[in-house]
Amino acid sequence: MNYFIETIGCQMNMCESDKLGLALSTYGASKVNILQEANIVILNTCSVRAQSEQKAFSFLGRAEEFKQDNPNTKIVVIGCMAERIGSKIKRRFKSVDLIVGSKDIDNAALKIADLCNLYDSSFNKIEDSQNIVRYVTIMRGCDNYCSYCVVPFVRGRETSLNALDILKESSLLVKNGVKEIMLLGQNVNSYRYKDFNFTSLVKNLATINGLERIRFMTNHPKDLSDELIEMMATESKVCSHIHLPMQSASNKILKAMNRKYSYEHYIDLVKKLRIAVPDISITTDIIVGFPGETKEDFEETFKAVKEIRFGGLYVFRYSPRPNTKAANMPDNVPLEEKKRRHRLILEESNKISIEIVASMVGSVQQVLAEKIENGVIEARTRGGRKVFVKGSSEKDLGRHLNVSIKEAKINSLFGNII
Ligand code: SAM
Ligand code: SF4
Repeated sequence: MNYFIETIGCQMNMCESDKLGLALSTYGASKVNILQEANIVILNTCSVRAQSEQKAFSFLGRAEEFKQDNPNTKIVVIGCMAERIGSKIKRRFKSVDLIVGSKDIDNAALKIADLCNLYDSSFNKIEDSQNIVRYVTIMRGCDNYCSYCVVPFVRGRETSLNALDILKESSLLVKNGVKEIMLLGQNVNSYRYKDFNFTSLVKNLATINGLERIRFMTNHPKDLSDELIEMMATESKVCSHIHLPMQSASNKILKAMNRKYSYEHYIDLVKKLRIAVPDISITTDIIVGFPGETKEDFEETFKAVKEIRFGGLYVFRYSPRPNTKAANMPDNVPLEEKKRRHRLILEESNKISIEIVASMVGSVQQVLAEKIENGVIEARTRGGRKVFVKGSSEKDLGRHLNVSIKEAKINSLFGNII
């Protein structure tokens, strides 16, 4: 049996798709990269914005067409949309065979195996593939109820996973060749399991021999502690990158978003982080066109983007989501104005990114080699920038390389090993 998996949405979804893939391998199913070669077509969905849901619908349209000519194909929908509107999906796409919502995601492999008559067999137990970088989920759900966000509704209450299990899973990954672990949670700062908080969890992970780098996301500005900032400064395995979603720089909008911090607090964190970790890259998320966002509110956000000089950012046009508090607020920024604000932030951010990468040309960067394709290594700096390295070979995979940066494009750097 061959399975094809399409993943829409965040790193957490990617992580869940990877885990599902590994579990299906133990049932003897093989991953294919072309939908037309699959017997099982899996769609992992996202509900964060209406656009992500539209993407899922159009994928399902294509999957249904394929199934008309290949009636034995099974179509499976998992994740946030499956949780939120599973029965609607089933009504609209009659050929969908199985729906598994995000709260039941741990049972997805078993349910798919049942549906497709796959049998667990020790012959099929596979070694985890030799990935250099792997995601490890440390928390599920979210209790923050930002007024625009559907996540607490589709992923449920915030729960921290067992710290000992996380340490065990990470050690196993490292034994299988993994060098970098990215810890995932909607608000990693509020991780708490018995005596562990997030900082002590990371400190314990850092003692794993052979683990070279630790990253994490997402950090919520309201909970980012001095203890964590200090740990980032002193723990050499922790990368100098933090994703710290600002969303807006207008205190009025932050309040309406229920973010529970002010712009002054946010700026204070940026300053502390930059003092503690001078080469840190701070990246962010921004929403434009939130209900009630005036031109002046937007100007404050635009000015903040200009002044803070983020290492990178994701900007989203506000999209009303069912059940959320903001869905009852008048969505009063016209679409054309949302598009304009989105474009302005993106243009400014691209300009800053180009300046940042241009200033890295001529420098030497320590990178971790993650992949190789056609003799070119794909690696990442400690700040998270992609670097393509010539003059390297397979044996360099998983190693730290010192690379002289020769050329820069907006999202990538190019260099040679020195
Ligand atoms: N937990 C993370 C945090 O608090 O920053 C973010 C998780 S959310 C899945 C990822 C990003 O999607 C958010 O930071 C926000 O910028 C964006 N987002 C969430 N809901 C949105 C909505 N209704 N419209 C537009 N963007 C949205
Ligand atoms: Fe959504 Fe806010 Fe939770 Fe992030 S912290 S997942 S934006 S509710």
